[in-house]
Amino acid sequence: MGATATFTLNDLIAQIRAIRPNADFQLIERAFALADAAHKGQARMSGEPYIQHPLHAAMILVEMHAPDQIIAAALLHDVPEDTDVSLEEIKEHFGEDIASMVNGISKVGKIKYRGVERYIENLRKIFVAMANDIRVMIIKFADRLHNLQTLDAIPQKKAYRIALESLEIYAPIAGRLGMGEIKGRLEDASFKYVLPKEYEWTLELATKGTQSKQPHIQKIIEQTKEELQNSNIQFIDIHGRYKHLYSLYRKLLKYGRDITKIYDFTAIRCILPSTAECYAALGIIHSRWTPLKGRIKDYISQPKPNGYRSLHTTVFYDRGAIVEFQMRTPEMHEAAEFGIAAHWNYDETKGQEMMSDRFKNLINPEKEIEWINQLAVMQNTIKDKKEFLASLEELKLDVFRDRIFVYTPKGDVIDLPDESTPIDFAYAIHTDIGNTCASAKVNGMIHPLDQPLKSGDIIEIITNKSRKGPNPDWLRFAKTRHAKTKIRQFARAGIADWIKDVIPTAMRGKKK
Ligand code: MN
Repeated sequence: MGATATFTLNDLIAQIRAIRPNADFQLIERAFALADAAHKGQARMSGEPYIQHPLHAAMILVEMHAPDQIIAAALLHDVPEDTDVSLEEIKEHFGEDIASMVNGISKVGKIKYRGVERYIENLRKIFVAMANDIRVMIIKFADRLHNLQTLDAIPQKKAYRIALESLEIYAPIAGRLGMGEIKGRLEDASFKYVLPKEYEWTLELATKGTQSKQPHIQKIIEQTKEELQNSNIQFIDIHGRYKHLYSLYRKLLKYGRDITKIYDFTAIRCILPSTAECYAALGIIHSRWTPLKGRIKDYISQPKPNGYRSLHTTVFYDRGAIVEFQMRTPEMHEAAEFGIAAHWNYDETKGQEMMSDRFKNLINPEKEIEWINQLAVMQNTIKDKKEFLASLEELKLDVFRDRIFVYTPKGDVIDLPDESTPIDFAYAIHTDIGNTCASAKVNGMIHPLDQPLKSGDIIEIITNKSRKGPNPDWLRFAKTRHAKTKIRQFARAGIADWIKDVIPTAMRGKKK
């Protein structure tokens, strides 16, 4: 019970070879040998030999096309914590980089839960680890995914807590990093333990739905292939995809538990050689089937904040049946499944794993992962546990809920939480812009400061340099933690000044 398939070193090697024939197999073999020897005699709660756990984690990472260094670190990830082999020894044999990843994983913490304090401590550790080295978090996802797959073997109460933490913290972070496939797997594996009845209900609905739709989908795929061939549009693959269970469940709740209202329960996914072919295919599909109004989404020209790119459209098929199409290139496909992890490159000349520029940005964070920095800063500045707990709600809103992306007049993209207002935008640009904000123009029109922005808006903040500081009233509608903090800070420090400035001397009743 609770055991997953049994893997061997050869399975791992074969899997890597299929993706990267020039991989550093010696490194993988050495890491496996050390881990295998160190964990010798240890068993998982499921009864299987302990080495199966790091091996499974490594296999998940291979599937994500992770570089050799990361796979080696995954094989070694529980060694210093659970065996007699120390981190020093790992450093000696495998070098600084692998040792530092292994160290990072140990710091994120084993799954031990002692109430809220522990929960917060875990969260803090995750954020720090992420800010230091995003690769640690990616290994942690693989580690957690295998732990979730073997939850049957551990006591129910503990299983529930692990699943809940995965659902509330790990999955949203994976989503935020654009790792859709990993997010889906983390959620589905946790769903079963967190909401067992709802899980069963959704599973049954999905199974029935899939069975009834399957022949339909096959026919649409054939017809689509034919249409594309007739128009000389090349394609790589066209397949049906079914929504992950938990994400289906969330959507069902939104639509009165009525599966017929969920148009993207199944979708036809078209993998095409280039962006041009994606748009061409969209045109062909629209000429054959009538698209639903307002359901055409161009995430290629306007990617989601997490980097997701694809074209989506929903069309009327036979007798009012509705089906969603998704067009993307292989590169977009891989990025949508594994997010930043898909940006691992292999440098043939150096025989080394190299990181693409985008991935480098993530390790040396720039603007686009400002939020990871914010988390790290936050856990540093908040010394008091109570304060941290109080901020947790705000933090969840900031980081984990849906994001919008808006533009400066120069075209820079600013990533904000949903429902953000021009005030949040102003503070995201610069504290001085926020503090001296007088009014805002959105898409060229004056826009009230308390009204939410929408994705794609172009925002121009009009400042008044003689303004002494923010209006405390803004706290009512500022959405981001960043803006609220800045407004509060100013209110605390400069309230007297502000009153002096805003309220005419006469009204304060005293004359000099
Ligand atoms: Mn582990």
